[in-house]
Amino acid sequence: MKRAAHALEAELSRLEAAQLRRRRITAEGFAEPGSRALLTVRGRTLVDFSSNDYLGLARHPALAGAMRAAADAAGAGSAASHLVTGHGAEHQQLEEELAAFTGRARALLFSSGYMANLAVIGALAGRGERVVLDRLSHASLIDGARLSGADLRRYAHADARAAAHFVDEDPEHTALIGTDGVFSMDGDLAPVAELAQLARRAGAWLVVDDAHGLGVVGAGGGGTLEEQGVESSEVPVLIGTLGKAFGSFGAFVAGEAALIDYLTQKARSYIYTTALPQPVAAASRAALKVAQSEGWRRTHLTALIGRFRRRALGCGVPLAASGTAIQPVMLGSEAAVLAAQRALEAAGFCVVAIRPPTVPPGSARLRVTLTAAHTEAQVDRLTDALGEACTGLAGPGAA
Ligand SMILES: *Cc1c(COP(=O)(O)O)cnc(C)c1O
Repeated sequence: MKRAAHALEAELSRLEAAQLRRRRITAEGFAEPGSRALLTVRGRTLVDFSSNDYLGLARHPALAGAMRAAADAAGAGSAASHLVTGHGAEHQQLEEELAAFTGRARALLFSSGYMANLAVIGALAGRGERVVLDRLSHASLIDGARLSGADLRRYAHADARAAAHFVDEDPEHTALIGTDGVFSMDGDLAPVAELAQLARRAGAWLVVDDAHGLGVVGAGGGGTLEEQGVESSEVPVLIGTLGKAFGSFGAFVAGEAALIDYLTQKARSYIYTTALPQPVAAASRAALKVAQSEGWRRTHLTALIGRFRRRALGCGVPLAASGTAIQPVMLGSEAAVLAAQRALEAAGFCVVAIRPPTVPPGSARLRVTLTAAHTEAQVDRLTDALGEACTGLAGPGAA
């Protein structure tokens, strides 16, 4: 026991010395009714430029109202898994509405995107088969592939030719090609049409995890596929989350009826877990309505993205090439991102440093995210503060 505890301390000290130890920020409150944009942290009000609440829905009164009504009607907990007695009317209706929203036959609700990815890869690939993933895929896709026991190959980021190399080595056994739609730490988009062509040629499943695209990317919020003009039939397995642009919690897989039936029978992270609370499903239903009816949220966000990029690049801030709400500032070293995070906090902004292993070594960054809840004035003040914080800090790739 004693030795084990020492080993933990040693590893924690190593993380601390390498500036890789992570610390949580407690949001003590929110300074603006109905909005998450202003956080209270250690008694100070900060503008939050790190959330995934892209449409500004997490504290929307329609979501909280739907949640309250469902809690009054159905209670807090689901009390069982979906296949026993935990599946309720709110879950069922949300699944039908998600299928309609994504233009697919069926959708299956999961408690989180992490669990959805474990489910999908574990159900569609296994020992003796090959899974081909983008190198920068979300950790849950990678963990799903590892847990499946399949032979995992990771291709160079967003490079369909590199993916083809791994598929063509062993097309017989390639079961699945997987990618984020919008990359979570980079904000760029996968080459979905090329990957779809490759998957079709190899007879493999194509899985697109559009956690950061659905609801927010594309004129109608249809995600990466809408943005790129890719038909839903080209992507047989679509994964979405409800805790990001939809401001709620949970996730789903959308596809043909046979796929959804199969996952319902086989996916262990679906079967062996309690159904998420019905009030949460009710909030997601409300979010889906607001996301579709209030197109101004995407229009306003698009304008803020353009404004942020113009101003930040004008101040010499090293932005990555991203057109989405995820705008990484590539500083390279752990020391530089932590210093920049502190400087921004002093200026009234919460922008969290993202370090390895979340991103590859040497590519630490500030992950700035913009949301429909931000104002032009907040974005302008952020870019001024970023310009100052980045002056004198090392550029991309610095040690
Ligand atoms: C956030 C995220 C997930 C995990 O979703 P949760 O519902 O938060 O568990 C999965 N995939 C991608 C690409 C993500 O960004």
